[in-house]
Amino acid sequence: MPYTFYLFYLMKIKRYFWIAILSITVLLGVILPETTQAHTSLNTLFQTSTISALAIGIYEGNTSFKELKKYGDFGLGTVNYLDGEMIGLDGKFYQIKADGVASVVPDSMASPFAAVTFFKPEKLINIEGQINYQQLQESLDRHLPTKNYPYAIRIQGNFPYLKFRTVPKQTPPYRPLVEALKRQSVFELRNVNGIIVGFRTPKYMQGINVNGYHFHFITANRKTGGHILDGQFQNAKIEIDTISNVEMNLPKTGEFGKADLGDGKLN
Ligand code: ZN
Repeated sequence: MPYTFYLFYLMKIKRYFWIAILSITVLLGVILPETTQAHTSLNTLFQTSTISALAIGIYEGNTSFKELKKYGDFGLGTVNYLDGEMIGLDGKFYQIKADGVASVVPDSMASPFAAVTFFKPEKLINIEGQINYQQLQESLDRHLPTKNYPYAIRIQGNFPYLKFRTVPKQTPPYRPLVEALKRQSVFELRNVNGIIVGFRTPKYMQGINVNGYHFHFITANRKTGGHILDGQFQNAKIEIDTISNVEMNLPKTGEFGKADLGDGKLN
């Protein structure tokens, strides 16, 4: 093969080689961002500890709110020592103590149970007429395409009636949640403006999270709120976000390690 021809041949190969590399790069450029995007757009429910651990009295965790904020701007739960209800919305997390007063949770505070997500609503439901809490849950059940995914739910409106509670701060030795709840503070408000933040978790996740609906509420002025017990709902705007990823962070504490989460008794 003459040298010049060889060089031309090599260049030709080289050209095809570079065209091939370029094509692959372009193709990857088209395909990869889409797959990466599809991956990052998977909505993740991030939770610290489990509801069954909270139920038996594991009231101290070591996931701080600074850490929790990395996994969501929306959510609910409680803070260490079960010192009130916790609600998170628009990246701000509030603690509502037993006196019913809401305040911003310091980043350094930790949570023994919290569920958070980056809320990206994809479905809007409008309620017509006035319905009670039970009917709200039945109505949501009818609107959800499947009960096999967890859902993040945001309800905004002027609520004709809301009954909610907050839990009192506990001191060791910790008693189970049902015992602590005997001293819960219950509040009732009528014609109240605010936001309800919550989740619907599938039955198969029972023990990890609350089976079914779990809602926390905060008034529009962010002064009070709590865990929803009952209510009347009218002309409320309900937004739904389907979750297909669940990430759990378990407490790295001796109490969690020692707890018998199988039969719900502490060793
Ligand atoms: Zn709650």
